[in-house]
Parts: sequence; C-alpha cells; structure tokens
Amino acid sequence: MNRSGADRAMTDPYGRTVRSLRMSVTNRCNLNCIYCHKEGDPGSGGEMSVGTIVNIVRAAADLGIDRLKISGGEPLLRNDLEEILAALPPLRDVSLTTNGVFLKERAQSLKKAGLDRVNISLDTLDPAKSRMITNSKKDVLGDVLAGIEEAVRAGLTPVKLNMVLLKGLNETEIEDMITFTRKFNGDVILQLIELMDFKNVAYLHVNADEVEDALLTRATDVKVRQLHHRKKYMINGAEVEFVRPVDNTEFCANCNRLRVTADGKLKPCLLVNDNLVDVSDAGPEELPALLKLAVSRRVPFYTKGRKHNGSRTDS
Ligand code: SAM
Repeated sequence: MNRSGADRAMTDPYGRTVRSLRMSVTNRCNLNCIYCHKEGDPGSGGEMSVGTIVNIVRAAADLGIDRLKISGGEPLLRNDLEEILAALPPLRDVSLTTNGVFLKERAQSLKKAGLDRVNISLDTLDPAKSRMITNSKKDVLGDVLAGIEEAVRAGLTPVKLNMVLLKGLNETEIEDMITFTRKFNGDVILQLIELMDFKNVAYLHVNADEVEDALLTRATDVKVRQLHHRKKYMINGAEVEFVRPVDNTEFCANCNRLRVTADGKLKPCLLVNDNLVDVSDAGPEELPALLKLAVSRRVPFYTKGRKHNGSRTDS
C-alpha cells in the first residue's frame, strides 16, 4: 500500500507528532546581535551540501514532516539557497528566517525557486538602536526595511516581523511596530518574541505577562496556534503573535519541530546539545531510521513542576 507521509508521521515518547523541520544552513552571519541564540547550534563550522539538505528534507517529508523553516546564521549568505529551494520535495509550507539585509535583491528569485514566506528580524525602527542591537557599524535598518517591502511585493506573505523584546531598548516600541505592520494591509504580521538568555542578557528580559495582558485588553479577537500554543491577537486590523518559549510547559507540550544544525546533525531541542544525531554522511536509505532515532530523543525541556529537565546549552 502506498501510504502518505501523514500516515507515517513520527510521534515522540511524549505523544507529540513531529510536523516541522527547522534547519540551519549556515552558522555564518553578517550581524552579531547582542542576544542571538544561533539556533542553539554548537557548530563545527561545516555546512551541508545541497544534496545532503535535500535528502534530509525528502526523508523527513516521507515521515510526515510537511513544513520547513530555513534559518542560520544568516541563510541569505548562502548563494545556493535558490538551488536548495528548487530541489525540495513538495511541502505544505517552506519559510525562511532572515535578518533581511540582503533580502531586497533575493526576494523575487527566492519566491520563484519555491519559497512560500519569510520571517524578518526587526527589533526596532530606530537606526541607532538597530546598530546597537545588531552590533553593526554599518547602518543596516534601511536595507532591512527595503527587504520587507520587496518581500511583500514578491508575495512572500504573510511576512512575519520577529521582534525580540528587550528591556530598556525596544519594549516601548511595540505600538510603533503595530502601526508599521498595519501599513501593509494584512500582508505583514508582528511576532513578539520573549528573550531567551543565551548570552548573559537576563537583564534585558521583559515581563511577558505584562505585555500579553496589555495586548489582551485591546484585542478584538484572540486565536491559538497549534505550534507551541502561541496566541495571536487581532488589534485594529493588525495581527500580533506572541512567542513565549521561557519556562513555558505549554510551549514544549505543543512543540512539533525537529531541528537540523548547519553541519548536519538532527537536534531534538533548541536547549539541549547532548542528544544530537549525526546525519551529515547519511544516505537516503539510512535517513529514516536516524530521523526516528532523533524523534525518540525528544523530551519536553520545560515540564510541569520543574524548571527544566535537560542540560542547558551554553552556546
Ligand atoms: N539571521 C536570521 C534572522 O535574523 O532571522 C536567522 C537566525 S536568527 C537565530 C532566527 C531568529 O531567532 C531571529 O529572528 C530572532 O528573533 C530569534 N532569536 C535569536 N536569539 C534569540 C533569543 N536569545 N531569544 C529569542 N529569540 C531569539
């Protein structure tokens, strides 16, 4: 019997079905954001070939994974991204997260190669703060804003703007960001992200309850996404999604993702590095068993009654 990928979906020991792959394609980045977790990638510096990437995604798709998010490092530093996209099997959703600096030149070709949509990091609309957050001497904000406009024009929608909330830096800019997204008539969504402390930046952590309560009082509608049970608030024609990964048992209980590091290791959890499964040299015939092995190692990082139950990465 020819069974579909959905029939063969992988479920981990905690009953969580794995539906999406978050794949880093490089650890290199043109920016050096003060808080960046680098996808929790311990990183050998190696990068997968187009063939390796495509084989992994194909095997994952056969096992019911129908969503792919490409990340990094900065994925647009790979000149062969269009080649990768064009070689992928059909998936329900292929998205990319980028700092947007090089997006203006690539948006049309990425769309043509098969990319569905983009997330773009935009923590601030203030050029001086942008330089400070990204640790960049060059003013990149103008390029990022041009990238957002071109992404909308290219139909890489909905474009999600990733805004990591940073105490004393951008927490007072939420309203300006909502106003900014409204200009795009529904094509742009604001995604607020609670800061995870990977770089001794706990002092920048913003109280997510307070922000969420304020959104709730203004929202005309609230939806709950399946992934991580993230909430989406509708505020006068703007959509605001809130990602709360910190000390959040509900987030982990509803996590349906498997990660892949830039050098080709399956990574069951952002916050754990001692359970990776190396697939960098695996052929198509070995990949299904290795994917299942990685899924069998998935453990919710935050569980009820405990702060965490895994070894914390220090990357
Ligand atoms: N360079 C690309 C970019 O800027 O989107 C891809 C890599 S970056 C690690 C992917 C996303 O991770 C960024 O949009 C940022 O919002 C998020 N991120 C990075 N470090 C984080 C942290 N410490 N806490 C929460 N989110 C973080």
